[in-house]
Amino acid sequence: MKNTIDLHQWLFEIPLDDVRAENYEDKGGPKEPCICCGKKVPNPKYSVHLLTNGNLISSAEDFDNSQGFFPIGATCRKKLPNNFYFVDP
Ligand SMILES: [Zn+2]
Repeated sequence: MKNTIDLHQWLFEIPLDDVRAENYEDKGGPKEPCICCGKKVPNPKYSVHLLTNGNLISSAEDFDNSQGFFPIGATCRKKLPNNFYFVDP
């Protein structure tokens, strides 16, 4: 099956623990904090895709084990390869 491309071979995962700040603290509140540092993101522009296994994935597609999208701050996103964050519409 030469023409069949398995899309999953292009997907990469990074454990959230690897990018999350050591002093991360979810202070709660009405808005989701930056997934990386836990600080407020006043105007979220970027988001990451988190899976139930605790990994970020380099795809905005929907997966069975998706937890959904979470905001990431403009500075923190630079810790990630650029295929791991998505610009919010
Ligand atoms: Zn942050």
